[in-house]
Amino acid sequence: MAELYPAPLGLQGVSLSGLANEYGFELMGPDGPVKFFGRIKMGREGIEHVLSYVTAPEYLDGFAQSPHEYALIERRFVTESLPSNKSWLICDEMADEWLFKMHIDAVAQGRFHRVSPFVDPSAIVHPSAVVMDNVHLGANTRIDANVVLYPNTFVGEGSHIMANSTLGGEGFETKYVFGERKLIPHTGGVIVESGVTIGSSTCIDCGLFGTFTRVRAGAHIDNLCHIAHNADIGDDAAIVACALVAGSVTVGKGAWWGPGAVSNHEVVVGDYAYIGTGAVLTRDIPAHALAFGAPAKVRGWACRCRNKLNVIDGRATCSKCGAQLISNDQEQLVLVDE
Ligand SMILES: [Zn+2]
Repeated sequence: MAELYPAPLGLQGVSLSGLANEYGFELMGPDGPVKFFGRIKMGREGIEHVLSYVTAPEYLDGFAQSPHEYALIERRFVTESLPSNKSWLICDEMADEWLFKMHIDAVAQGRFHRVSPFVDPSAIVHPSAVVMDNVHLGANTRIDANVVLYPNTFVGEGSHIMANSTLGGEGFETKYVFGERKLIPHTGGVIVESGVTIGSSTCIDCGLFGTFTRVRAGAHIDNLCHIAHNADIGDDAAIVACALVAGSVTVGKGAWWGPGAVSNHEVVVGDYAYIGTGAVLTRDIPAHALAFGAPAKVRGWACRCRNKLNVIDGRATCSKCGAQLISNDQEQLVLVDE
């Protein structure tokens, strides 16, 4: 049976009307449960009942098109043209700061769900490792010396965390909240799926708003890497030594992230892309692209077997594994049989 990974860690016992009463907001629209505080673009699977915020009229369209049902909005932006299928909490000003204040308060009040604690009897944990509460260690996992696993870390079957690595530490997010620069507490976690290796002295931060930083099945992370909050590392991807994978970066399946390559946040690296040593990723890299330099640019194409491809008239045949690839209408290289 496939291993079940935890759902995002939502709030419990919080509603729009409850927040309206507690903080003196006006509720416009139907009441409902609030499971997450978050940003408009937060929209991964399993995330519903998100209270988002609108701090400028230009964000209203994005919110209207988002799947989210609720937003905190400043009174000056309330007009008759607000989408009627959403609920609104109306505050006088600083909707974003109120949202972070509510998040900080809810953390202090222990209102967030956590990962269910579990250690499979076959897990091998070195006596010097620190495994905190609310950690899941699946069958045949191996946790080496001096590893620290913070709460809400899930390690899937057969995965191996090497010495001195830290998983689930707080990601780095600072925000002015009513005049004070605050480090925002993180309520998410880290999911390391099955068959993953994490090298020595690597840090993988936990997700921010109840969501997970994720390393998917069969991926390999080398030594001395930093994987920031809400990054998503694809199946069988390789992240090589001293890499810096910034927040909310997505790395496709089978991609290769070369030594010392660094990125801006939210960059998307396509499936089987090959990122060269020391690359500085400032924008998205398509699937199968060979990209390097600062800033990194697409300079060629790579097969999923990592052989270099010669693309002629939008087509390529790998000289090593025989795979046939073709450019699709989005100018991305895809396997002919996909
Ligand atoms: Zn190939």
